[in-house]
Amino acid sequence: MSGAPDPADALAIARALLRAPSVTPDAGAALDLCETALKAAGFATHRLRFEAPGTAPVENLFAKAGAGRPHLLLAGHVDVVPVGDEAAWRHAPFGGELDGGDLYGRGACDMKGAVACLIAAAAGRLRDRGAPKGAISFLLTGDEEGPAVNGTAPALEWARAQGEVFDHCLLGEPTNPDALGDMMKIGRRGSLTGRLVVDGVQGHVAYPERALNPVPALMRLMRALDGRPLDEGSAHFVASNLEFVTVDVGNPAANVIPARARATFNVRFNDRWTAASLAAELRARAAGAGAGAPWTLTFDPSNAESFVTPAGGFAALVADAAQAETGRRPEASTTGGTSDARFLKDHCEVVEFGLVGASMHGVDERAAVADIETLARIYRRIIDAVVP
Ligand SMILES: [Zn+2]
Repeated sequence: MSGAPDPADALAIARALLRAPSVTPDAGAALDLCETALKAAGFATHRLRFEAPGTAPVENLFAKAGAGRPHLLLAGHVDVVPVGDEAAWRHAPFGGELDGGDLYGRGACDMKGAVACLIAAAAGRLRDRGAPKGAISFLLTGDEEGPAVNGTAPALEWARAQGEVFDHCLLGEPTNPDALGDMMKIGRRGSLTGRLVVDGVQGHVAYPERALNPVPALMRLMRALDGRPLDEGSAHFVASNLEFVTVDVGNPAANVIPARARATFNVRFNDRWTAASLAAELRARAAGAGAGAPWTLTFDPSNAESFVTPAGGFAALVADAAQAETGRRPEASTTGGTSDARFLKDHCEVVEFGLVGASMHGVDERAAVADIETLARIYRRIIDAVVP
């Protein structure tokens, strides 16, 4: 074990992880380090390699200690986004350097720092209290920042095929905007993309009776779709919003009525809708528009449904743990972009809580050393409360 960091030392693991470059999809060396630490802590480990057609292969790691229920899943990613302009960094992006109370490096907050805290908390739990009455598992992926097809989703299917059933999942994404204890994420809005196409009849603008202009028809359809609110929000979500992202006619001539006009829109929707019920509502609005020309409305198949973890139970337990260590109760939020929670939520309830994300994906990405130590204690409280 000479040279390997103490698996219960969050800062030592975080520094070692930052020194293992792991830009998606090449996360193998960082996963080696996690696997070594988890094995030393008493976990049984499985490396999972997935390669969907037309993609680069990606390594992932599943590790488990204990058996039965309750079963707590600790999830994260060790892949990172590219460095960008390396000359702009004050500290080597893969150096794991400490300066002024901060730990610097690509992935410091998103999210090698939190992965180190998860490992240290679980290792400390096994060291101090022995075998759990229940199970603690890790799912660490190397494909979160990329296409996310060779990571968490197939790894969860593999786990299901092994008979693994999870009760709760803690995902260590950087959820705090400014200070540790600000915010946890308990869900996300869904996303639906729609495409309107109106077919007219091309002709001379001086003889409109011989043509059918699709542009006014498209305007009536667009007005019908976004003319009134979809909803007024719900208990945990802001209102759904429909945004037109492009309108395309592509007609360079000022004296020609065009043959076709198109528009594309995206809706971020809350838990008052499913993708299917929202699509039905939008079709009904379009049908009532009195467009005056033939039109079609289609929806892209790659939609994400909204989800929310119930406010009590596990979410309250995570908030309790954060409050006990930071003195502040994190807001339960459903804002922001997507994460692997969109896959995890199909297997068990999931709450995201991690480091301060202010520098994520930026130059001189960093995490406060004090935050890393506090987050490891928060995670330890969560583990102790779920798995006796
Ligand atoms: Zn992340």
